[in-house]
Amino acid sequence: MALIVQKYGGTSVGDIERIRNVARRVIDTYNRGNDVVVVVSAMSGETDRLVNLSKQMTPSPSEREYDVLVATGEQVSVALLSMALHSQGVDAESFLGYQVKIVTDSAFSKARIMKIETDELLRALRAKKIAIVAGFQGVDENNNITTLGRGGSDTTGVALAAALKADVCEIYTDVEGVYTTDPNICPEARKLEKISYDEMLEMASLGAKVLQTRSVEFAKKYGVKVMVLSSFTSKPGTLVTKEDEDMEQVVVSGVTYNKNESKITVIRVPDKPGIAYTVFGPISEANIVVDMIIQNASAEGYTDLTFTVPKTDLHKALAIVKKTAGEIGAKDVTVHENIAKVSIVGVGMKSHAGVASKMFKVLSDEGVNIMMISTSEIKISCAIDSKYTELAVRVLHNAFGLDKLGVTEE
Ligand code: ADP
Ligand code: ASP
Ligand code: MG
Repeated sequence: MALIVQKYGGTSVGDIERIRNVARRVIDTYNRGNDVVVVVSAMSGETDRLVNLSKQMTPSPSEREYDVLVATGEQVSVALLSMALHSQGVDAESFLGYQVKIVTDSAFSKARIMKIETDELLRALRAKKIAIVAGFQGVDENNNITTLGRGGSDTTGVALAAALKADVCEIYTDVEGVYTTDPNICPEARKLEKISYDEMLEMASLGAKVLQTRSVEFAKKYGVKVMVLSSFTSKPGTLVTKEDEDMEQVVVSGVTYNKNESKITVIRVPDKPGIAYTVFGPISEANIVVDMIIQNASAEGYTDLTFTVPKTDLHKALAIVKKTAGEIGAKDVTVHENIAKVSIVGVGMKSHAGVASKMFKVLSDEGVNIMMISTSEIKISCAIDSKYTELAVRVLHNAFGLDKLGVTEE
């Protein structure tokens, strides 16, 4: 007998029939003698719908009320799944974040889990019930409802698995595992049998939304065994685990993209000590993550400062930057709203030269202009115009031989 946490994403609970399908899978696991805790997302499209409602009300909603609103999607799906289980004769109980006590900090819309109380869930499991937990939401120390950022139900799943010391956390989604790139934009993408925490962390943080980055951080920190699988088939998925010898020894193991980027340039900034801090300090205080940064060579004591922020934070960031630009006497602030970051990822890159130049050549052969570059030991990222995203992903996937990697499907 094992303790299994299963997380089902939005598409998997997208309508009544799909929720019934999830119930059948959950019962199957339960009937094999396991304790089961299920985490569910909102029905597909629901969180977007709620975000849109808030936008219609006001362009800058109260952050607290935004979370009260967007957390409601998951309340619907836990209740419906619980009913589906009841109607198949199985005892189940639903829990919202505050009922479990998933305690987070107070960073509304991107809160981090600080602590999870397990008493209520263990009580339900002892009573032989299936516990169904709303993903994506928590509660802060002042009893405010918080949410964990888009895709946050993955993190709820893995964090619960860590807190409950579960044997495995199964992430059920609409693809059959983690692929060399997004299978929905590159038909040649290959499913990986296994991927290391570090590579998965890099892929997730660079845009592979199959797992939220924070969920992989949790998995790595607490050694949670994570399986990514499809809720529509029974094919083997991808195991996310510690690096080991039989993982494929390749230079590049994945290609990712992130279209949620915008570029801001502050023109003719005085080139003197303290300027970077003056520009970026207020942005980080507003909880906005600046990603790529470049500063031009100084000419006549002036320079241009270019950086990217999440497109979803552009409105907020721009207001802050314009204010700072006025204070430091910069000439202007310009924006390119539709930027994509395409990246190649692989632990094998550490010991290989020439990977970056190959990436630049592949993009230039397609006439794709590189606006910014950033590198780490195991990844290279290029900012490009987002209209070239799909093209860039496909040619890079091909150039680095990824179509020949991974599991061979019969
Ligand atoms: P869920 O609603 O189940 O959480 P998501 O839409 O958040 O599902 O994540 C699954 C999606 O992630 C897939 O449909 C796929 O388009 C996308 N994706 C991006 N990169 C990858 C990758 N490397 N492997 C698998 N899926 C990926
Ligand atoms: N419903 C939330 C979202 O759409 C959380 C999740 O699906 O993981 O982002
Ligand atoms: Mg998701």
